[in-house]
Amino acid sequence: MELIDTHCHLYAPEFAEDIDIMIQRARTAGVIRFYLPAIDRGSEKDMLDLEKRYPDICFAMQGLHPSSVKGDVEDALQHVEQSLTQRKFSAVGEIGLDFYWDRTFEKEQYRAFHQQIKWALQFDLPIVIHSRNSIEQTISVVREHQNGNLRGIFHCFNEGEKQANEIIALGFYLGIGGTLTYKNSKLPATLKNIGLENIVLETDAPYLPPVPFRGKRNESSYIVYVAEKIAEVKGVSREEVSRITTANALKIFS
Ligand SMILES: [Zn+2]
Repeated sequence: MELIDTHCHLYAPEFAEDIDIMIQRARTAGVIRFYLPAIDRGSEKDMLDLEKRYPDICFAMQGLHPSSVKGDVEDALQHVEQSLTQRKFSAVGEIGLDFYWDRTFEKEQYRAFHQQIKWALQFDLPIVIHSRNSIEQTISVVREHQNGNLRGIFHCFNEGEKQANEIIALGFYLGIGGTLTYKNSKLPATLKNIGLENIVLETDAPYLPPVPFRGKRNESSYIVYVAEKIAEVKGVSREEVSRITTANALKIFS
């Protein structure tokens, strides 16, 4: 069984002590690739160092996370652009809109999102989208730019069937992680009517661990719990979940 963790922050300080053992555990569990979403310049060096350490299995993205969008947005964006021209990244991400914590820089968040989508189109890269308390607004920004060439993932998808279908109609994939296993999640009901061909797996490690690891550090090997739950919800084998979602991920990032 081969799985791909399409979204994991394995360069986070939470893994500093045991990164090699943790990656080995994930590989033993079947994880063949790890996609590392960027946040901002503060963690960029750690991300690139990890990619250098595991060049065949870890793939860095470049982008400015909406929660890192502040008054210095132009400066931060300039760095993203410069970096995208200097080398190949696996995606532009994570980018999007986050109105959960703070709407102070809402205007700047829109500016950063639009601009980074334009660069994704320019550099022919997929986008990895972060959206919190902003799904309708995020979908409409993506729709505005969809000219047939834009592709990517709505990471940590946790909405209803209506939004899922809008995203799929835009040619995008749903990134499904540990929240699917949470007791009050409405995702199982949503996913019942969504095809596996529209889904990719992720952990968002070290955040959002699946049951039975809630309250602990999340890591990539736990992705099997997500695959297991999807298999249960869809009434298919875990092998089928891994085969189709892995093929989807390879297609997006190819
Ligand atoms: Zn993330």
